[in-house]
Amino acid sequence: MLDLWMPISDISPQGKTFTFDDQEIWRQGWAEFAIPLAPGRDLAAEVTVQPQADEGALVRGSLTGSVMIPCGRCAEPFEFAIDETFDVYEHLPDAEGDDDEPRVRVVSGQLQLDMGAVLWEAFALALPVRPLCSESCRGVCPKCGKDLNKGDCGCVQDDGDERLAVFRNLKIK
Ligand SMILES: [Zn+2]
Ligand SMILES: [Zn+2]
Repeated sequence: MLDLWMPISDISPQGKTFTFDDQEIWRQGWAEFAIPLAPGRDLAAEVTVQPQADEGALVRGSLTGSVMIPCGRCAEPFEFAIDETFDVYEHLPDAEGDDDEPRVRVVSGQLQLDMGAVLWEAFALALPVRPLCSESCRGVCPKCGKDLNKGDCGCVQDDGDERLAVFRNLKIK
């Protein structure tokens, strides 16, 4: 993840808005976590930071753009649009220290906000759990591996609809 700790102590209580469009912010993240993505439309974030009582900040923003993501059925990359808004309160860890990755820290008496983590999280939350190029994607043939969206392969499918295979082993409790 890109190191983007920002000093926020000098921001007025009304807040200040920042824009981010360095693609490395997100590309480093998906490389680091080995997520098989490729660039789509450039990502851009607009983030308003509003400091709160010397201990944190309200962080609101939006993230737009797109990425190329492999379909969970046919494995073909498709363009997935990102249009996410976020609204979080980031603050110093409390006395119990139960937050092991705080996004706010104090350096030389100045509050800093981990904008890299905020921007990465907004992106990660926007990604689909089960990416599908289309609801009607037919996936690949389990026998020959042909992408069935491009036509039938002629294999005899003896075990029913492979897309439903996952349901056959479910036990109804
Ligand atoms: Zn597909
Ligand atoms: Zn086949």
